[in-house]
Amino acid sequence: MESENKRRSFIKGLGFGTLFLGTMQYGFGAKEKNLSKKPHYGMIFDQNKCVGCSDCEIACAKVNHVPKNQHRLYVEDQTNPKNIMEKKYMRISCQQCEDSPCTHVCPTKACHRDEKLDIVTMTVEDCIGCKYCIVACPYDVRFINDETKAAENCDFCFHTNLPEGKEPGCVGACKYDALVFGDLNDKNAYINKILDIKDSVRLKPQFGTKPSLRYIPRLRKGVDDA
Ligand code: SF4
Ligand code: SF4
Ligand code: SF4
Repeated sequence: MESENKRRSFIKGLGFGTLFLGTMQYGFGAKEKNLSKKPHYGMIFDQNKCVGCSDCEIACAKVNHVPKNQHRLYVEDQTNPKNIMEKKYMRISCQQCEDSPCTHVCPTKACHRDEKLDIVTMTVEDCIGCKYCIVACPYDVRFINDETKAAENCDFCFHTNLPEGKEPGCVGACKYDALVFGDLNDKNAYINKILDIKDSVRLKPQFGTKPSLRYIPRLRKGVDDA
């Protein structure tokens, strides 16, 4: 029921017209953000809730027509082999950086930031396949789509689900509430309610790209396998 409520509130509010937790930075509640009227979308991945079912990967590929054997997102099993009873999974995808090297280096602006929703996305027709953006991305999450021959990244389903008022495919597919999507600049958004009460991290903060993905690290149970 909680999940349903959060989804409904997101849809209403949209108004459309190998990473490790070793490199991370804690503490990004809504109170610490500059809340403004312009939206800035982000996502939470809760490592405590993810069971590694891959439903998010499958939904992403279907919604965004990602070719077989290519991925905008995947969930990596990072379970310590010495402690296999405590499963640990990690979402690997575009971090939707606020200061995004991929958009800075693109010579044609095929890779760009949408002005209204502040999401890093693509104009596929303008891509010349130079791969500058792929080299510039510190998170190694961009790729050239085998079919379109254009670069690609997770853009929160910018061209597919969002214009239809739906949340990203991965979020809708997750039965375990491990994924939450919303406007980080809306203090009443469900995503900010969670960030206000739970510790979260950004990956690789040393690159200074200010990712919009937040990770809620798995709580340790006894054996320290972090
Ligand atoms: S659908 Fe949810 S629980 Fe399953 S792998 Fe994805 S994030 Fe984890
Ligand atoms: S994670 Fe990579 S592809 Fe995504 S916005 Fe950052 S630099 Fe660009
Ligand atoms: S591969 Fe495409 S999106 Fe990436 S920098 Fe080159 S033109 Fe831009």
